[in-house]
Amino acid sequence: MLKLKRILEIKTELLCKGVNLDERFIDKYKSKGIPFKEGRKGGAGPLGGRYFAFDDNKTILNVPLWHNNKETNFVLKNEKDGYFEIFDKSKNSVFVKLRLIPYPNYYKITTTDDILMEKIALIHGLDCLATTIYQRCCYWENGSKCQFCGIELSLARGDTIEEKTSKQLIEVINAVKIEGKFKHLLLTTGTTSSIDKGVLKYINILEDIKNKFPDIPIHVQIEAVDNLEYISMLKEAGADTLGIHIEILDDSIRKVICPGKSKTSYEVYEKNWIHALEIFGKDQVDSFILIGFGEPTEEFWNKLEKMIKLGVIPHITPVRPVPQSKFKAPICNPLILLNIFEYSAKLMKKFNVNPLNNKAGCVRCGACSGIIEAYRLITGNYWS
Ligand code: SF4
Repeated sequence: MLKLKRILEIKTELLCKGVNLDERFIDKYKSKGIPFKEGRKGGAGPLGGRYFAFDDNKTILNVPLWHNNKETNFVLKNEKDGYFEIFDKSKNSVFVKLRLIPYPNYYKITTTDDILMEKIALIHGLDCLATTIYQRCCYWENGSKCQFCGIELSLARGDTIEEKTSKQLIEVINAVKIEGKFKHLLLTTGTTSSIDKGVLKYINILEDIKNKFPDIPIHVQIEAVDNLEYISMLKEAGADTLGIHIEILDDSIRKVICPGKSKTSYEVYEKNWIHALEIFGKDQVDSFILIGFGEPTEEFWNKLEKMIKLGVIPHITPVRPVPQSKFKAPICNPLILLNIFEYSAKLMKKFNVNPLNNKAGCVRCGACSGIIEAYRLITGNYWS
């Protein structure tokens, strides 16, 4: 069994570089009548990957999958008993063996309004049921979208539908519960041009799902809002954890990568985070922090410390290219990312922020980040 420190190093390298698919192996696999699906090609969050588990069957990661990407020395090949070999061409040796997390069966079921359930909500990681309740965004509409975002791509591909209803989500939850594959729910949305920025689209869905399934912890993601009352409304409607995602801490980089969203300042995010922590409680508020835009600056380190000192969990993940889009994300340097994971974990220990207490969503899922493994290492809180 791999030691946690080694697991974190391997996870960090694979999150950054991803792996190439060995075409002969994939063809052989397909010839056995087993379609090898390569993960989401559109939608919110890191794209183009499949979920794998380490041999502890607890630590999971979302591995980017490529075809002939010259920037990675890793190749996926040779499957034995569900474990895939990730081969390191630069060392001509096996880097690690990982278990592929299979697609759940409910993807093939249709809802009573005749929509394939995989178009309504997907399993992320090991047990997080995730959906984008509204698949459009005002920044796509007005040409100022975040460059790393693929929210409307899956809609354009017909892989999902524009807006999900409580009824559809409740049917999917019932189907997933039968498979026993789900422990928490993640709801996200594109930003609307209205003053609530999309918050009001959550309210009925949250109330209906919480009424039907009071024990399911629910995570919601928003952009920072001017009227903090909207954050209280999410809690009252049934949300348990909240992601208020700033994504990029350096203002100059943020203005380029997120031309629309960067009009909301870091200071407004701080006000939102402080209010959200009062409402949702300790360890229940996080923000995606994307890494890969060069060497971290002093501004980055200062703001990272400020947000953790407030009590916000930084869900740190390397930026990824978006399939079929002009955005060619730089390959993040694994050593830089590892250093940021370890430093953030030290800060969370120092300021008594515990991501292991987070009830639902990306922090609990952990597939796209090594922040949980780094925190476990720094606090000696290994898997029991
Ligand atoms: S960390 Fe978040 S975006 Fe990544 S797989 Fe898990 S739920 Fe999805």
